[in-house]
Formats: sequence, structure tokens, C-alpha cells
Amino acid sequence: MTTGKPRIAIVGMAIESSAYAAHRAGYRDFPVLTGEALLERYPHLAPGRPLREAAEWIPVFMARSIPGGAVLREVYDDFKARIVDGLRAAGPLDGVYFDIHGAMSVVGMDDAEGDLVTAVRETVGPDVLMTAPMDLHGNVSETLALALDLPTCYRLAPHEDAWETKERAARTLVEWIERGERPLRAWVRVPILLPGEKTSTRVEPARSLYAQIEQVEKRAGITDAAIWIGYAWADEPRCHATVMVTGDDAAAIATEAERIAGELWDVREDFAFVGPPGSLDEGIAAAIAHAAAGGGRPYLVSDSGDNPGAGGSGDVTWTLARLLNKPELTAPDAPVTYVASIFDQGAIEQLFAHTPGDVVDVEAGARVDHRVSGPVRIRGELLSLREGDPAAGRIAVIGVGGIRAIVTEFRKAFHATNDFSSLGLDPGEADIIVTKIGYLEPTLYDVAKGWTLALTPGPVDQDLERLGHRRIVRPMYPYDAFPQRPDLSAALLQGREYVRGFAAGGIEAAPVGGRGEQR
Ligand SMILES: [Zn+2]
Repeated sequence: MTTGKPRIAIVGMAIESSAYAAHRAGYRDFPVLTGEALLERYPHLAPGRPLREAAEWIPVFMARSIPGGAVLREVYDDFKARIVDGLRAAGPLDGVYFDIHGAMSVVGMDDAEGDLVTAVRETVGPDVLMTAPMDLHGNVSETLALALDLPTCYRLAPHEDAWETKERAARTLVEWIERGERPLRAWVRVPILLPGEKTSTRVEPARSLYAQIEQVEKRAGITDAAIWIGYAWADEPRCHATVMVTGDDAAAIATEAERIAGELWDVREDFAFVGPPGSLDEGIAAAIAHAAAGGGRPYLVSDSGDNPGAGGSGDVTWTLARLLNKPELTAPDAPVTYVASIFDQGAIEQLFAHTPGDVVDVEAGARVDHRVSGPVRIRGELLSLREGDPAAGRIAVIGVGGIRAIVTEFRKAFHATNDFSSLGLDPGEADIIVTKIGYLEPTLYDVAKGWTLALTPGPVDQDLERLGHRRIVRPMYPYDAFPQRPDLSAALLQGREYVRGFAAGGIEAAPVGGRGEQR
């Protein structure tokens, strides 16, 4: 196909979208990278690195947002057109590096990544090899499974191996292009749908389940193995766990895919919250008791129902409203409690008309997501004003007794210690930090002296049955009973073809022949 180095285009669009969030992701949510700036996104493609030299990388288009609600249709259509136009302009290709998350929702669409990958495949032709380094919280639809030659995903949650995964995907793509062959894929769909907070690889059973992958991919005939635990806050037929093993030995990859899927099924009842769960009241009571006992600072309380990192809107007020009603937190000598965060442009306008030290009285939040609570009234002392945060824009901190309520202009996840310290709020000086997060990301995990995973309501409610799914394929663990073990046989794929379909009675019966999952 080519005389020189393999020509590989880089395209992508990545977000994790909660179908239960009122937030809509638009242009402001998606920084766009093209050209050299896109190449610079990847440390493994830095000038001089072996992978950079191994291929001609053609940076076309990448838009990436932090998690949120569904993407506005016109924004998706625009980005898709830019990807397709860019691929056409790129000329003949040997490979596509398709950088997606796997849990994007677009208003009015099912299986957004399936739509995007179909457009890419139609543009580049059937022979080009495609890889996708995905999030293990992504969902693999049949359309996606058929379009990608070398899909893979992270092996750690929190995703400390994100860049390692992106590098591995680039490396295996180059290797297979150089071989001039097409890998086989063994694919098992597993009828399990659990939240990420129950499937963190910091604890069992996910820790061992994922840790074995490194050994599996060393076996002869195997290139890569991946377990997508799936994304639970969407309601589409593609939402379920998936195991995929790629390589050139059909028997080896099928055996391993079925073995891993079987293990996943066998440990399903062992998945439990990664941190001590509780109600918000229980979390605050535990935090106050911890502080009174001299347990060390800070005690973390995850306001998990509106975690922007999982797709929460970020302006749900339910938690802040309750905290402001607790005299044990609002008294002048109350424990110092950072509360992050609520975004509200109008409230920020009002607050920036003041100077620190002023007494302020403002209503904030619930402009986007008001389904579980309305705007919250905050009366206190304006402690600080900051401008220029890349995500949050302008930020105000209001003191109410021990509470330090953080109000931002735009959505922002407070998931790292420097999100607080950049505001002059030293995490080590807080008795309690309440933030919109699920499992603790590394820097907060490292400083936490105690923790409650508060099961608060919101768009990413951990109580999935409280949200309700209507369109996932049933039966599904843990929502339904399984009188028998489900069929966990592997389908074998090569390119867009089924070499062997699922055995009868798979979780979606008789998919052979490219049955779509669209509504
Ligand atoms: Zn994830």
C-alpha cells in the first residue's frame, strides 16, 4: 500500500455522558486539537520517540471534554464533518488511531461512537487498520466491535494507566500494519452493568481480574486483552460489560476471552463500593467524629450523585443546601469544611460586584440541573475572588461558619489537591472536604485521613435502580435474576466479518450478519 512508513491518521471525540444529566455538552466543553498541537497531546509521539519515527502520524482532529451530559447534536455533526473532511484530505492511509472514550451520548442518537466509527470507516475504506484506546467505562456496541481491528481499554480505575494504554494502542497498530495482516478478535458480551465505584481496581475483585491481563497478552498468538466494565449512567442496548482479546491464534484468543468473561461473571456478587458508603448525614457525622477524635485532616466526603467526572451536571445543590442547614457546620467555631462546587454564571456576576470581606447573600446553582433541588441561598462572608481558571473561569469562595462554599462561573471538577490549593484553600487545613466525586482520584486519595462515599441523589446516582433503565438488554445483573449461567461464548471477528458468531442464546440472540443496535 505504501512504500515508506505507515501513514496513520489521528482522529477522535471523547466524552463520558450521563443520560440522566440535564447538562448539554457544547463547544465550550470541547477544546479542539489539530495539527502539531494534536501530536503534542501524546507523549509517546514526541519527536525522537521510537513510535514517532515508526510511522507518519497525520494529526487530523481531536475534541475532548470532561464528562458531562449528552452532546448537542449540531456540535457532534460539526465535529464529525471535520473528522471526515480531514480524513479525505489526508489521502491514502494505512491506519487510523481513533481516540474515543466509549460512553459518549449525543442528543437524539443511540450509539454515538458507532455512528462516528461508521463514518470514519466509510471514509478510509475497509482495508485500513483501526485502533481505539478506550476507557474501561466505555461501551462496546456491535457496530463498534465490527469497525475496530484493535480496540483496547484502560486496566486501572482510577485511570492511572491512561497514557500507557494510548501508547500500547499506537504500538500494536504500527506492529500489525508492518505485518501486513489483519488481527482476529474474540468478543464476549457479559450481561453485567455496575457503577465504576463498585468496580475500582484498587480493590478486589476488579484488582485481580484486571491484573491478569498483563500475563494473558504475553501468551503466544495474543496481542491484547481488554475488559470494558461498561458505563451505567446511560440507557442504551450497548450498556453492558465486554471482554475482547485480539491476536492471530483463534483458539487462544477465544479461550482467553471466554475464561476472563467467565471469571467476571463468577465474581459479580463480590463487587462492592470501593469506599465506605453512607448517606450524606452519616458521612458528615463520621467526619465530625473523626475531627473531634483528632483523626487528622482532611476527612473526605464524596458527593457522588453529581460527580462531573462521571457525567454529573455539576450544579446540583442538594448537598450544599443540606450542609448549610447543619448548625454543627455553620457555627463560627465549626470544623473547617470545603464544599466544592456549584457553577452559576449569574451568581458569579453578583459576587464579583463585591470585594472580599463583604457580607453577601446570593442564590446559586440548579440553573442546569434542578430535578433534585432548586437554587441554594448562600448568606455569608465573601472570602476570595479568583479569575482565569481554565475550566471554571471566575471563582468565589463564601464563608458560612466553618463552611467554605466554592462557586464557579463554569463547570469544574474539584478532583485534585491543587484544585483547592490554587484557590488558597490548603487541603491539609480542612477538617472536612466535601466534593463532587466518586472514588477518590490519586492526590485526594493520598491526603485523605478518612472517607465516606456519600450516596447522594443526582445525574450519576450510585443507586442505579433509583434512576431506572428501560432500554438495556435484559436480563442484566444485578437487576434481574439468572436462573442459569448466561451464554459467555466468544464471537470471532476479523475486519467487519464474523468468522464465527455467538452461540445461540447469547445476551443478544443471533447477532450474526451485522444486526445493528440502533433503535
Ligand atoms: Zn472511566
